[in-house]
Amino acid sequence: MRQGLLVRLSRVRWLRAVLLSRVVALPGYWFATAMGFVWGALLSGFRISRRGGVVVARGMPGWAFGRGGTTIGAVYLTSSTLSDSVLEHEAVHRAQWRRYGLAFIPLYLMAGQDPLKNRFEIEAGLAKAGYR
Ligand SMILES: [Zn+2]
Repeated sequence: MRQGLLVRLSRVRWLRAVLLSRVVALPGYWFATAMGFVWGALLSGFRISRRGGVVVARGMPGWAFGRGGTTIGAVYLTSSTLSDSVLEHEAVHRAQWRRYGLAFIPLYLMAGQDPLKNRFEIEAGLAKAGYR
């Protein structure tokens, strides 16, 4: 039902063009990064570092992110999933956030819950994230 609405909205050309324009997408990415940073800093006890092209908040409680970790803007939230290949995968998600801004959230949801079929997960590299 909700997915149907998103799919219909995504087909509205002018809306798509506005949401995916640099002037809208980039501030959306900055906003997502700020939110990810605050969320990550508070819940990781400020265990923040830069690694592999992302800002890492490690030591997060398990309920505070999805799967092995979640990238919000430039910030990768995780408990302890920190291999080089996972960080490469998350750096692609960061680039996706930069490209799509806040529209990345509905676009990602529309791409489906199954990571093996989600085009953003496929682009980021399924094997790097341990999906295969
Ligand atoms: Zn991923």
